[in-house]
Amino acid sequence: MDCLFCKIAAGEIPSKKLFEDDTLLAFYDIDPQAPVHFLVIPKTHISGADAITPENSAIVAHIYEVIAQLAGQLGLTGGFRVVSNCGADAGQSVPHLHFHVLAGRSLAWPPG
Ligand code: AMP
Ligand code: ZN
Repeated sequence: MDCLFCKIAAGEIPSKKLFEDDTLLAFYDIDPQAPVHFLVIPKTHISGADAITPENSAIVAHIYEVIAQLAGQLGLTGGFRVVSNCGADAGQSVPHLHFHVLAGRSLAWPPG
C-alpha cells in the first residue's frame, strides 16, 4: 500500500524514532508545532479514527498506555495534549491513524 506512515512503520522511510514495539511506533513529527511533538501510529494500516472497530480497537488502548509511559520518561510534568485529526474538516493530511502528542508550552483551547 502506498502509505507514508506504513512505510515509516516498516522502516522504508527514515524517522526520528522515540519508541517502537511489535505493534506501534512513536516518532518525532517532521514539522513540530510545540517544543515536544511526536506521533504514535499502529504498525497495521488503519485509515483514521473513523475506522476503529471492535476488531482493531485494542491498539488504541495500547497507544494510550505508551503515551503515558513516554510522557513520564520525557518529563512532561506540565501536561500534554493528544490529538487525532480525522477527515478533511479536521485537517487530516496522512490517512493512517496517528496520535499527535504535543507538549512543552501552554496550548490554546479551543483549537482553530
Ligand atoms: P495530520 O495533518 O493530523 O494528518 O498529521 C500528519 C502529521 O505528519 C503532520 O504533523 C506532519 O508534519 C507529519 N509528517 C508528515 N510527514 C512526516 C514524516 N516523514 N516524518 C514525520 N512526520 C511527518
Ligand atoms: Zn498506512
